[in-house]
Amino acid sequence: MLRTRAEEVAAVTDETRSLIADMFETMYAEDGVGLAAPQIGVLQRVIVVDPREDESVPVALINPVIVMESEETDRAEEGCLSLPGLKEIVERKARVVVEGLGQDGALRRVEADGLLSRVLQHEIDHIDGILFIDRVSPLKRTLLLKRWQKMKPEAAAG
Ligand code: ZN
Repeated sequence: MLRTRAEEVAAVTDETRSLIADMFETMYAEDGVGLAAPQIGVLQRVIVVDPREDESVPVALINPVIVMESEETDRAEEGCLSLPGLKEIVERKARVVVEGLGQDGALRRVEADGLLSRVLQHEIDHIDGILFIDRVSPLKRTLLLKRWQKMKPEAAAG
């Protein structure tokens, strides 16, 4: 499911808002800074982010699209709630502008840099079926997947 491109949301309804509420709850319970609907088993293009920095506010976006990105990139360590225990340095665009629908169905535009920019790109990757381990070098990806395979039985048991 995490490898599948999620479907566009045709109309923002109470069901969408209830999905978003579940996603925020899951994200905060797992102490995450972002979550995409496929991570809770729903193949819809919905993301929530909250970097929880000084001036950050929680954002929910439906059908988000990156409409502008900087040439400049930025490298920082990332992890993922769907791949617990794995962390690696990932190169991302330093700044992005993202457009999508808010919970009220109105168009929203988010201009982001720093952690917010990184989290938005990570979550938009999720709705395209892309994981952060796909954004590292093939050698590092092999090492990460080996580590993941070793951890998996314990994770299943726990
Ligand atoms: Zn993730």
